[in-house]
Amino acid sequence: LKPHQKELWGQPIGLYILFLTEMWERFSYYGMRALLVLYMTTSALGDDARGAGLGWTSKEALALYGWYTMLVYVMSIPGGMIADKLIGQKKAVLFGAVILCIGHGVLVLTDIWAFYTGLGLVILGVGLLKPNISTMVGGLYQAGDIRRDKGFSIFYIGINLGSLLATLMVGGVVAKWGWHAGFGLAGVVMVLGLINYIAGQKYLKEVGNLEPSTNDENEVSYGKLYSDLFKSPKQLLIVGILLLASIYGWFTLDWGYGLLFMFLTAIAALLIMIYKELDTQVYKDRFLVLLLSFIMVIIFWGAFEQAGGLMNLYTDTKTDRVLFGWTIPTVMFQSLNAGFIIIFATVVAGIWAKRKLKGKEASSLFKMALGIIIMGFGFVFMVFAAMEFEKSGTSSMIWLVLAYLFHTIGELCLSPVALSFITKLAPVKYASLMMGVYFAASGLGNKVAGIVGESASDFGEYAVFSGILIFTVIIGTLFIILLKPLKRLTHGAEDNERVMH
Ligand code: GLN
Repeated sequence: LKPHQKELWGQPIGLYILFLTEMWERFSYYGMRALLVLYMTTSALGDDARGAGLGWTSKEALALYGWYTMLVYVMSIPGGMIADKLIGQKKAVLFGAVILCIGHGVLVLTDIWAFYTGLGLVILGVGLLKPNISTMVGGLYQAGDIRRDKGFSIFYIGINLGSLLATLMVGGVVAKWGWHAGFGLAGVVMVLGLINYIAGQKYLKEVGNLEPSTNDENEVSYGKLYSDLFKSPKQLLIVGILLLASIYGWFTLDWGYGLLFMFLTAIAALLIMIYKELDTQVYKDRFLVLLLSFIMVIIFWGAFEQAGGLMNLYTDTKTDRVLFGWTIPTVMFQSLNAGFIIIFATVVAGIWAKRKLKGKEASSLFKMALGIIIMGFGFVFMVFAAMEFEKSGTSSMIWLVLAYLFHTIGELCLSPVALSFITKLAPVKYASLMMGVYFAASGLGNKVAGIVGESASDFGEYAVFSGILIFTVIIGTLFIILLKPLKRLTHGAEDNERVMH
């Protein structure tokens, strides 16, 4: 059991250190992300104070954006593995933060090599930091500690505070001092995050350390897991089929997808072997239900992430953004999500807590499924918007506000809950890996979102928004119908949560 940790406002102080570190990291991530497509598509001649962009077409820019936002999260898998196996989460977060400072620093330079190098470093940095800082939050609590879910909700507010500040500030900085000052701002802020993390180490003594394994049983050996694959014909067959599909993808789609499929095959092989190697049926079942819940994660982000793509373009071109004679800039609509999170995170967490006190606590799986339905329902308003546009050539911004509101409530039901759920169900020695797989699932969701969003140019927004609405509501309902058997697979991992000191 973990020794008593110092508390502040009912939570371990370490939570606030992680909160601030993640807040600055997300500031730099979302600040840079908000600029990326705009910078790539701005003329290379530099028409205004923002300076020269890369002069790419929007198709080229969106393609890189799709790969970037996916890779940033997919890299969480190696990031998690490195933590589990080599250095522990605490050091992984430290190294990730240092790499991020360098990456954002490099982006201040105007050369094209600096652009690619900077993005590459950010991908590596986020991969090391993001999953591991989330696992560390879980590490602050003992099994069954009632404060855990609330802790993750608080942590989630930090994430969105960073994102809100970034999306509100970065546009102004760029307009005044140019693109690279905007990138630089992300770098400066990341340095703050790093300093904050280092300064707060004394509150994180007990979390994120690489546990020295006392016996071979606890030793994670990915090499052995892979070599065991060759001893099990059934598994080898499954992996072989996946590999063939990847090679097919390589030749029929393009090498990028081929490479991605191969990477996913390697991960699938690893997960299959971990499942096989887990020693009790309870662990196996929990592992399985975790993976099944990741299907919800992919679908959720696949729909939700229309925000930065299709819905963003819709806001720009098809929405009446004039309020009392002032035209609201398109980017500002991107702040709605983060703003709503900050307003509603404690409300939603409070509702669950109240139910828990009454002994009617909903399971994480239920919350996640409900999250998909609520978020999916938000697309009703986008359907109304598309209908209004078809009738009158413009649509009211109220639809967007309502859609983002429902998206946010859905996100609050799913995202912080999923983080907490993983830290309850994953076998301890694979905790960071599973967190990495979760983020990779959300990365795939980002990519799916791009593909779905692009299809609007063929089918029109009305069809795409209605399609997402119907699909997500059906999937969410399906998971609710299957709740009982799925919950059985958790073997009471969420029961008996209690107040601990
Ligand atoms: N907005 C959240 C964050 O940045 C969710 C990210 C995700 O899971 N894709 O942490």
